[in-house]
This record gives sequence, C-alpha cells and structure tokens, in this order.
Amino acid sequence: MAQRGSVLLKIHQVGSPALREPARALAPDDVRTPEIQALIAAMGDTMRDAPGVGLAAPQVGESLRLAVIEVREEYIRRLPPEEVAARGMTPVPFHVLINPVLVVDDAATDRFFEGCLSLAAFGASVPRARAVRVNALDARGEPVEVRAHAWYARILQHEIDHLAGTLYIDRMDSRSFASRENYDRYAGGRSSGRES
Ligand code: ZN
Repeated sequence: MAQRGSVLLKIHQVGSPALREPARALAPDDVRTPEIQALIAAMGDTMRDAPGVGLAAPQVGESLRLAVIEVREEYIRRLPPEEVAARGMTPVPFHVLINPVLVVDDAATDRFFEGCLSLAAFGASVPRARAVRVNALDARGEPVEVRAHAWYARILQHEIDHLAGTLYIDRMDSRSFASRENYDRYAGGRSSGRES
C-alpha cells in the first residue's frame, strides 16, 4: 500500500512508445539533481505500490537509463518454499542502477514464468542467463558493481532490457504466453510478486 506522502506514477502499458525507445544516459551531476532524486523516490513508491520487484524509468514515461530494484521479504514469504528454492529467490535491498552495463557471467539459461508491470495480468516463460555482473552508477552518482545469480540476475536482465526498449515478450517462449489467472489455474504456479 502507498505510504502517506508517497508519489505514485502512471505505469505505461505495452503499446506505449515510451516502452520501445532506447533511453538516454545520465551524467553523474544529473543524478544528484532534486529532479532525479525525486524521480527515484517516486519510482520506489510506485514499485512498492504495484507491487513489483523492479521498475525502469521508461515504464513511467521517462526516457532515462535508470531503474530501481527491491525484493522484500514479504514477496518471497507468500510463495511456496519449493518454488522459492527452485528459482533461487532471495531478498534484495532497495537500490538504484543508472547507466547500467550488463555482462553475462554464466550463459547457461533458466526458464521461469516472468511478468511485467507494463503487461499487467500476463506472463510467459522467459530464458535468462543464470549469472550476470552489472556496472552502473548508484543513487549518488557513484560507480557500483553488482553481481547476481538466479532470480536476482533475471530481474537485472529484465530491467536493463527496458532501458533498450526491449520487453520480455521479445525473448519469451511465445507458446507459454498466458494470463496470470490461467497460469495459476493450469500451470500450478503462483504468479504474484514477480512483476517488474
Ligand atoms: Zn517490466
């Protein structure tokens, strides 16, 4: 739920040109401006309200190479433990990635059901590399390196794709595309809490 004083942004849905344009990079000095700091805070509020585990600036109509990520304990707690184990789900503290550059560390792929806040109520099986490394700027404009595997690596690949105008439907196994309702009904899964 939204906190008092939180700012909720409109999340663009598939078909919006904002989702298909490559986003522009931010200079470190830009990152520290009140405008970008306010955007980061509002994107965090919007992601938690959705709820989601990641949100990229193009999804809120800002063509900037900026994404926020957070996996809260409660997302994971409401999923079956065997699924949490199979997907390698772990909590991830809130963080910001600006101008991220992704390198694949383990090209072996895992296929899991994946959703997107910009394709509300749908999902599909999407192959993603098992381990990645990301170099970026953080919320203060300082360089950071993030190494991730399993589910966290999937979230990073999904968000950084958004910054290039790419959606999971460009990478999915197309015959697995399903409404979340039907995924839950026929594939025995729980689709909640996986959107980004
Ligand atoms: Zn998405």
